Parts: sequence; structure tokens; C-alpha cells
Amino acid sequence: MAMSATVSAGVSSGAMAWAERGACRNVDPDSLFVPGAAQHRAKRVCAACPVRVDCLAEALDNRLEFGIWGGMTERERRSLLRRRPDVVSWRPLLDAMTVRSAATAR
Ligand code: SF4
Repeated sequence: MAMSATVSAGVSSGAMAWAERGACRNVDPDSLFVPGAAQHRAKRVCAACPVRVDCLAEALDNRLEFGIWGGMTERERRSLLRRRPDVVSWRPLLDAMTVRSAATAR
């Protein structure tokens, strides 16, 4: 999530230094806050983002409703949160999933 977009979304920029390394740092922040199906095109920028896990954890932990975060649309995040209401801190779970995913790709 571009730093200017995080500020627009009401997120403290100080806690999100990782956003400066996001693949979207040079895109128009408005392009990440598009409606409906356009979000599937918008999230392509996240595919090779080096801070994707940080971004997604931030959005899930803080229940950020709007925009593309961590390669997920608003609807995808809502669905994930509904399936896992027990998770209060997403970072450890996302890290574990990344490790598992990397192991199976070998
Ligand atoms: S995961 Fe996507 S929205 Fe988040 S910082 Fe990376 S490119 Fe931006």
C-alpha cells in the first residue's frame, strides 16, 4: 500500500515503514481504491511485492475495509476474516503459511 494511501486510509505512517518498499510506492494511490471487479486488476501490482505479508497483516489486524492490501481485494479479506474470527494477530500465521508454501514448492 503506497504510503500516501495508508495515510488516506487513516493508518499511522510511522508504524508502516515497510510501505516505503512496496511495489505500489510509485503508483497512483487511487488506483488501489477502486470498486468491485476492478480490484482484481488493481491487485496485480502486489504479485512481486517484497512487503506483501506486512501489508496484508496490517490490513487484517486493523480490519481495514477499503482498498487493495497484501494482494487481496476488500471482499477476499472480509471472507478470510469471517473464516478465521479467532485470529487477532495475522503476522505469525501468514509467516507460517509462507514457509509452508515455499517448502511445498521445492
Ligand atoms: S502488497 Fe500490494 S498494496 Fe501492499 S505494499 Fe505491496 S504492492 Fe502495495
